[in-house]
Amino acid sequence: MAERIFTLDDLTGVRSVCGCLACNLSAVFAEHLTALRTGYPGAVTTLGHRGPSPGTTAVPHFLAVRLGGGIADVVVWEEMRPHQLTAWLPAPDARARVPQLAARIPRLVRIRQALRTGTFTPSGAAGEALSTGGRYPSFRFLVEHWPTLNKEFTP
Ligand SMILES: [Zn+2]
Repeated sequence: MAERIFTLDDLTGVRSVCGCLACNLSAVFAEHLTALRTGYPGAVTTLGHRGPSPGTTAVPHFLAVRLGGGIADVVVWEEMRPHQLTAWLPAPDARARVPQLAARIPRLVRIRQALRTGTFTPSGAAGEALSTGGRYPSFRFLVEHWPTLNKEFTP
């Protein structure tokens, strides 16, 4: 499946906690995730402007949003309880990288933009997943393939 490109029209009629652009995008993305996920325990919870509750993990998601003539990456945050994080990301090594990568948003955005413009093509399983495997550079993809991406991407 190709990455969904959001537009501001997607925000029509959306209700969110405070009504700011970031919260409205979070609400739209939460609906998108809810429709997409199978076997995810419980509801999608976005963070809005608060920090994660104790014992939970803050997981960033990247939304590609068409703005004017270009596409901008917008970050929204989801809060996951431990069993939700495990259901979403079964591989323990990838799961262990989530907090580290969540602190490296600028590098992740640069990688997404380089993949989008074709100036970066990773090798091996990461490259195959993008070219023929129907994957796109979601945060989950980035965290799963981080060793390859981090080694091969030079800005
Ligand atoms: Zn807000």
